[in-house]
Amino acid sequence: MSQLECDFCGAQDSNDNPIISGDNACICKSCVNAAHEIMVSGKVPQTSDTENFNEEVEASAIELKTPAELKEILDDYVIGQNRAKKVLSVAVYNHYKRIFRKDEIEEDDIEINKSNVLLIGPTGSGKTLLAQTIAKHLDVPLAIADATSLTEAGYVGDDVENVVTRLIQAANGDVKKAETGIIFIDEVDKVARMSENRSITRDVSGEGVQQALLKIIEGSVVNVPPKGGRKHPGQDAIQVDTTNILFICGGAFDGLEEIIKKKQGGNVLGFNQEKKSKNDDSIISEVEAHDLVKYGLIPELIGRLHMIATLNEISEDDMVHILTEPKNALIKQYTKLFEMDNVSLEFEEDALKEIARLAIERKTGARGLRSILEDIMLDIMYDLPTFKDKTVIITKDVVTKENEPKIA
Ligand code: ADP
Repeated sequence: MSQLECDFCGAQDSNDNPIISGDNACICKSCVNAAHEIMVSGKVPQTSDTENFNEEVEASAIELKTPAELKEILDDYVIGQNRAKKVLSVAVYNHYKRIFRKDEIEEDDIEINKSNVLLIGPTGSGKTLLAQTIAKHLDVPLAIADATSLTEAGYVGDDVENVVTRLIQAANGDVKKAETGIIFIDEVDKVARMSENRSITRDVSGEGVQQALLKIIEGSVVNVPPKGGRKHPGQDAIQVDTTNILFICGGAFDGLEEIIKKKQGGNVLGFNQEKKSKNDDSIISEVEAHDLVKYGLIPELIGRLHMIATLNEISEDDMVHILTEPKNALIKQYTKLFEMDNVSLEFEEDALKEIARLAIERKTGARGLRSILEDIMLDIMYDLPTFKDKTVIITKDVVTKENEPKIA
């Protein structure tokens, strides 16, 4: 049976937002509540009408954690990347403080700008993980989109507004909840416009996508199609105010080091080897707004991404930490699965290092760890129930497939 969907907002049936189905239509709990409010107040709830009511609800739902508390949560899941964790914690703290203590700010007649975040770091270094971890622990909806799949209106592809639709879906159709959610847009570097500094030919529509993104990032009321997809004339659109949505953009920005080095007077042609040997991670951390303009981001968009943080490439040591330390570390997950069959699981240090080395070879960052481990563990998992009350020891030879695991 296909899943029930609200005919008003497109939300899917869920425990939080159940759907009532009639003969010809379905409606979800949030829409019933909205309809009730219209009947009682005689007014269609607009953003400003429901703001106070919703603010009370949401303020209690999202507890304003301090930056240090937020960083502590991130530390439980994300290895290294200390500066990025700090930047994100402060940005998130300011963002929600600005929403929940709006009255104090208005009293003083001060406007505090939204601090959207730009995360620059290689693939698999934890950019998405940072956004996911923060959203999960604040219990705010999160939508993840790839900038390369977005197009400016009128072109074939996903309209930028659809990202907002996805956020409403992540909030189970609750538009108010979506309006204080987080949108993570990955690969923004891939929609950079062509610049004279780089020879890579890119899609000319890149700048159009940036303009479209700018509109939702800077905060405006956008009309989004309730079920995603193309907007049709005559189709009811949902109005969403993006002012309080936190945007986190991410990208690898390959080649950015060259732009920064050039600015610093380093000779990129290789005559000055001393300067070239400077670690690329530390060069990237010196990035400034105008380097990103050179890279091909439009200045208006950079102006909206106030907080910039850089992430380092994951080192072999950090790979081992990632395997073993986070609360949901892969090795911890396997150990638990084994334990449930009364089998102990041990990884020798050399085995962990070898897995880390293989992951680095793949050049997909820490993302590669899971598939490497799954490959090693498949046969062992297959026979797991037969190892009851024993210990399975994974040595380096098992990782390199030269040997079977030791069973003790
Ligand atoms: P990207 O930087 O490309 O967005 P992701 O955050 O999606 O990378 O990382 C992919 C996966 O790799 C994550 O789901 C996580 O399992 C692992 N990972 C990457 N970086 C880290 C990190 N710093 N700490 C812990 N796990 C990480």
